[in-house]
Amino acid sequence: MKHKNTNPIFFIFLLLLLFSACENEGSNQSKKMLVPQENIKVRIPKFDGQSAKDFIAKQLSFGTRVTSSEGHQKCKEWLVATFKSFGAEVIEQDFTATTYTNVKLNGTNIIARYKPNVKERLLLGAHWDTRPFADKDPDTTKQNLPILGADDGGSGVGVLLEIARLLNENPIPMGVDIILFDAEDYGNANGEPETYGLGSQYWAKNPHLKKEDVKYGILLDMVGAKGAKFSKEGFSVQNAGVQTNKIWNLAKSMNKQNYFIDKTGGAVTDDHYFVMKYFGVPMLDIINRPTDDFGFGDHWHTHDDNMDIIDVKTLEAVGQVVLATIYKESNKEF
Ligand SMILES: [Zn+2]
Repeated sequence: MKHKNTNPIFFIFLLLLLFSACENEGSNQSKKMLVPQENIKVRIPKFDGQSAKDFIAKQLSFGTRVTSSEGHQKCKEWLVATFKSFGAEVIEQDFTATTYTNVKLNGTNIIARYKPNVKERLLLGAHWDTRPFADKDPDTTKQNLPILGADDGGSGVGVLLEIARLLNENPIPMGVDIILFDAEDYGNANGEPETYGLGSQYWAKNPHLKKEDVKYGILLDMVGAKGAKFSKEGFSVQNAGVQTNKIWNLAKSMNKQNYFIDKTGGAVTDDHYFVMKYFGVPMLDIINRPTDDFGFGDHWHTHDDNMDIIDVKTLEAVGQVVLATIYKESNKEF
């Protein structure tokens, strides 16, 4: 798709910029040039939920994206090309892994880097593979078929692609690394945490950057469904409590408290767990737990996880809060 910024606020901002530029002409001009890079404040752009939704639909157009499958390969080529078109330096980190069912996988963690030489960085993550079976589907005859994963996989990637697009259009001094982890969802339904997150386990043991350079990480998983509720995930509260509380408070100040629920839910073994365990930086997980008992919702690991359950408003709530976090961190206002 083609992106045009038709947001009227953007034009008002442009006018203000022009106006202030005129005002500053003359003696102030040279002063302006001396402003150190780290003091540059950049206005938080507006997150476009429809654009994020279109990025999800595009992923689904390749079919299911089970690691090593044909849809997976085609989707990878598109993801890499799209990040490059958004000005990122892209690393394709290939790895092999063996699943608990003894299947050999050829996986790729896709890493998109902004300001790769800057030492102060944020890590943003999501998984881009989809589950090879629908073990929670009520129709038992279809449980061995792979899911489309609009929400479970697709939504986190869709939000991060939109953030990448905006980082390219509204650059910030801070460094950002977006990692799309592979082979997250091939895990055993009966538990065994290490059967999940095969890509994040590989990355966390073979990172492309130094842990000292990373402030913290934010993982997005299942962030697109209608009526989503993001309670504070257990491992995030335990190991990234300061950042989790900060972001949930920011969400409240942005009137998004109906999505970002001020309650601690259960702990989830997700990619952030392995990043914390093996790489050793705090990483929180924004993940949908919509039911009172902190379940994952009716569409989870079923064939209902398709475009019908994706809601632009949910994508916008998550995207705008994460975007505000990034820009406020870069502006030293957070
Ligand atoms: Zn899943």
